[in-house]
Amino acid sequence: MLARRLPSILPPLSQAEAIETTAIYSAAGKLDGASLLEERPFRAPHHDVSLAGLIGGGGVPRPGEISLAHNGVLFLDELLEFQRPVLEALRQPLEERKVTIVRVRAAVSYPASVALVAAMNPCPCGHRGSGRRSCICSGDRVKRYLGRLSGPMLDRFDLHLEVPQIDYATLRDDRVGEPSARVRERVMAARRVQSERFADVPGCHSNAQLGGRQLREHCRIDARGEQHLERCATRFGLSGRAVHRILRVARTIADLAASPLILADHVAEAVALRALDRDITL
Ligand SMILES: [Zn+2]
Repeated sequence: MLARRLPSILPPLSQAEAIETTAIYSAAGKLDGASLLEERPFRAPHHDVSLAGLIGGGGVPRPGEISLAHNGVLFLDELLEFQRPVLEALRQPLEERKVTIVRVRAAVSYPASVALVAAMNPCPCGHRGSGRRSCICSGDRVKRYLGRLSGPMLDRFDLHLEVPQIDYATLRDDRVGEPSARVRERVMAARRVQSERFADVPGCHSNAQLGGRQLREHCRIDARGEQHLERCATRFGLSGRAVHRILRVARTIADLAASPLILADHVAEAVALRALDRDITL
């Protein structure tokens, strides 16, 4: 449900994005009579999706789910149920934000810039850490299960969140939470800060697109934050890629708080939002 709501807090599609998204749906024969798609796409392929279905393919290459989700959200529910080669094939398009399908006579490229969201159980039985039912998985089994995520796959995600089961009282609580429209205003304000910051950086509009050298320039941290990041990187054995992801997220948290400098609190929050780094190490 959270993943499905994500497009509602993202900025509305720009005219150029709407045209791009519409062109992809047209190429896929999925326009269903619409003239212009103005909503950010949300795609949730089933875990038995084929490689061609996810990435694109066929005799006349058609866009796959990752391109249909371009400018929107690609949601992979039960992440570890997807076939390993299918997940591996996601790596390059996620990095390059486009898919290139090569055929004998020609190569076709489709854009594939998505927010990737995935969900999985905390252990094979699904009850680890629930506090209400006890987990029946052995330590080794949990380790093997989470181990399937470790390495390059885990490095592809900026945030890992534990989502606890909702208890009955919360479920029946009638109070209305903060509306998406208000959250969207904060997101748009942070995006404005980012587009001003990157006005001179070609091809970069948001923190997510910051490359290695630009990270050093645009993600300055105060001394306490630097110490905290170093301690976490050593303790959890974080890869360079994971540290870069933490920096980008900390930069975004600082932007949401309208802080030009990344402070220790922002770093701590970004590290706390990567629960699986700790889970896999401990
Ligand atoms: Zn379990």
